[in-house]
Amino acid sequence: MDYNSFLKRDYKSLGEPLYRRSRFRWSRLHLLLLAAATLVAGTLLTLASREAEATRAQAVTASPARITLPLPVNVGPEDTTAAAPVPDTAPRWQNVRVRRGDTLSAIFSRLGLPQGELQRVLAAGGDAAGLRRLRPGQTIRVRAEAGRLLALVHERGPLESLRVHREGDGFTARLVQRELERRITYSAGTIENSLFESATAAGLSQNLVMELAGIFGWDIDFALDIRRGDRFRVIYEEQYLDGRKVGEGPILVAEFVNQGRRFHAVRYTDPEGRTDYYTPEGLSMRKAFLRTPVDFTRIASRFGRRRHPILNRMRVHKGVDYAARRGTPVKAAGDGRVIFRGRKGGYGRTIIIQHGGRYSTLYAHLSGYRRGLRVGRRVKQGQVIGYVGSSGLATGPHLHYEFRVNGVHRNPLTVKLPNARPIARRFRDDFLLHARRLMAQLDAHGPTRVARAP
Ligand SMILES: [Zn+2]
Repeated sequence: MDYNSFLKRDYKSLGEPLYRRSRFRWSRLHLLLLAAATLVAGTLLTLASREAEATRAQAVTASPARITLPLPVNVGPEDTTAAAPVPDTAPRWQNVRVRRGDTLSAIFSRLGLPQGELQRVLAAGGDAAGLRRLRPGQTIRVRAEAGRLLALVHERGPLESLRVHREGDGFTARLVQRELERRITYSAGTIENSLFESATAAGLSQNLVMELAGIFGWDIDFALDIRRGDRFRVIYEEQYLDGRKVGEGPILVAEFVNQGRRFHAVRYTDPEGRTDYYTPEGLSMRKAFLRTPVDFTRIASRFGRRRHPILNRMRVHKGVDYAARRGTPVKAAGDGRVIFRGRKGGYGRTIIIQHGGRYSTLYAHLSGYRRGLRVGRRVKQGQVIGYVGSSGLATGPHLHYEFRVNGVHRNPLTVKLPNARPIARRFRDDFLLHARRLMAQLDAHGPTRVARAP
């Protein structure tokens, strides 16, 4: 799998027109969103002021442990001071954006608040300790009167704020957390020009397209295999806050039809917390080995007979040479154990990894090894083990990669790679139930719709 070349290729085929079209679409969308946001904000402000009036009228003293707010439209801290009716002359809230290297002490100085108030705030204990670790970009909201702090809100992020308010001589602090709303979204498309174009038209973001390609990348070469008429269906998760989308992914279940071959993938987290994608039957979507253990620029030499560039003799080339810049990370093709690390004649700096009883892989001409990598160490698939170089007999920086099955050299580009481990037997029933449910959800949306750009 080489995602870089996949990205480049798709970007090229994306072409000018789509960029122009999508820009146009976005500008119109922005106007619409702006109009909608203005409306919503207006309504909410009206609602909020009504709510505040109601609060004042009833003088509600209850203070719930968890609060869900409709929108951050300056209505935030009102509830913390609900204990006392607020006269219209109440001191205003002041917003301070935390700068790099800022401390609460510095902010208090800027606002002209005495440091004694700061000590009392920190003495509130518990979550108030978080005020010692401000991060740039966060917001501190403060309400004070004549050098007396009444309330303080530390907006730690979109989901978390610390609310401090005065109680007699001291302060109490309370952490308010909000939850993201998760929405399950279905999307489908048929490829006309490029996967990116069709997926974007179907509403998938670039990240989700990469996720999709990553899931099926073991079976489909997204740089070479994609054809017009290929199609996909996806169910994925989106996260919303106040009706705004703030995150997306992961893909929960997906189908990809490539040149008539149909693939399905189901995301599953087993009771021990391991998450992976499987076929609906419980086989792994992954192979036990990466096809290429390095992001290469080109294949410099293939497997088989060739004239050796330095020895100038006919020889069998027992591996594949991937040209790549010096220092490019080389990854372990599969899980295994390092059985050799060192110089090996014309191979230069070399690593050999044993994968179970039958398979071994060799990586040569390295410029260096990953720190701490020693013989006997276990490595994980995709883990960096060394760096491309030209040690030994090499005309330029490249990775020489060999793949052996039962000690026999095989062509790494064409050898049939074994699948990664299927679902564990003890989780199989649980998985099948989960997979059946997700596949039914996918099918509930009917056959693949054709998504076209407007
Ligand atoms: Zn070679």
